[in-house]
Amino acid sequence: MSTHFIGIDLGGTKIATGIVNSKDELLATVKVPTQAEDGWEIITRRMGDTIAEVMQKSGVQANDVRAIGVCSPGALDIPNGIVLRSPNLKWYNIPLKKIIEERFNIPTYFDNDANVAGLGENRYGAGIGSKHMLYMTVSTGIGGGIITDGKIYHGATFGAGEIGHITVDKNGPLCGCGNHGCIEAIASGPAIARNAKERLKEHPESLLNDYSNITAREVSEAAQAGDQYAKDVIETAARNIGLVLAGLINTLNPDCVVVGGGVSHMGELLFKPMIAEVKERTINPFLQNLKILPAKLGGDVGVMGAIALAQSEGKV
Ligand SMILES: [Zn+2]
Repeated sequence: MSTHFIGIDLGGTKIATGIVNSKDELLATVKVPTQAEDGWEIITRRMGDTIAEVMQKSGVQANDVRAIGVCSPGALDIPNGIVLRSPNLKWYNIPLKKIIEERFNIPTYFDNDANVAGLGENRYGAGIGSKHMLYMTVSTGIGGGIITDGKIYHGATFGAGEIGHITVDKNGPLCGCGNHGCIEAIASGPAIARNAKERLKEHPESLLNDYSNITAREVSEAAQAGDQYAKDVIETAARNIGLVLAGLINTLNPDCVVVGGGVSHMGELLFKPMIAEVKERTINPFLQNLKILPAKLGGDVGVMGAIALAQSEGKV
C-alpha cells in the first residue's frame, strides 16, 4: 500500500519539491530555479525531474507514492489541473495535472497558492489542531484559504477564498480586479507604500523622507525606528484588515485565523491594531477560544502546503 506523499511548489523564481512518509516526516527536498524564460515544456519536465529526484534521494519507488500535490500560481482550472493563465510564467492553458500524471502514473491534485498555504499552515504550521481555520495572506496581493476538517473549502465553482476583493470603501482606490476599494487596494504591500507616499509631503518630520524608494518594507523599517507617520499608515491598513477579518469571523466562526505573507512580518505593528479592530467588530460568542496567529512556515509554506494537499485529496 502506497504511503508516501509528494508536494511541488511552482513559483515564478523557484520550484520546490518535498516528500513525506506516513508519519508526516519530511524525507527529502529539492529546490531548483524555475527559469521562467525556458517555457512550459522545459519547466514541466524540470518539475517532473524534481519529483524523480526526491524519490531517489529518499529511496522511495513511484508505487509507494499515493498522491502528488501541486501549488500553482495564476488562474487555474482546479479540478482539471489546468493553468489557464499565468502572466508571470507566460503560461496559457497548460494541462499540468495531465503532464505529471502521464509521466509518473500517480494521482495528482492542484490548487492555488493561497489555498495551499492555508492547508500547509493547518497541517504543519501555526494552525495545527484547528478544525475550522481561516488563512489570510497579505503581500503584493491579499488572498485567503478556508480550511475545514483538514480540507480546502472551494465553494460552487472553485472560487472560494478570494477575500482580497472584499469591498472596504466603495469610493476607494481602483483594484486590479476592476472594482474600487477592495481590501487588496487598501492594505496590500503596494497599497501601504502608496498610502505612505500620498501624504508624505504633509510630514516633513517623517524618516520616510530619507528614502528614495518607498515600499512596505521601508514603511515598516521607519515605524520600527519610532516614526509616528509610518506607524499611522500601518495602523490604518491593519485596522482595515481587521475589519475584513471581523466580517469573515462573523460569517465562518473559525477557531483559528492565521495571517501570513510578507506584510505579516511587520509583527506587532500590524497584529496589535488588527486584533483590536477584530475584537471591536466581532460578535462576542465568536471571540471565545478564537486564536489569531502569525503564519509559521515562511518560505516553505508552498511545498509543505502542496504535500498537505496531496494528503488531504489523496486519502482513500
Ligand atoms: Zn479587487
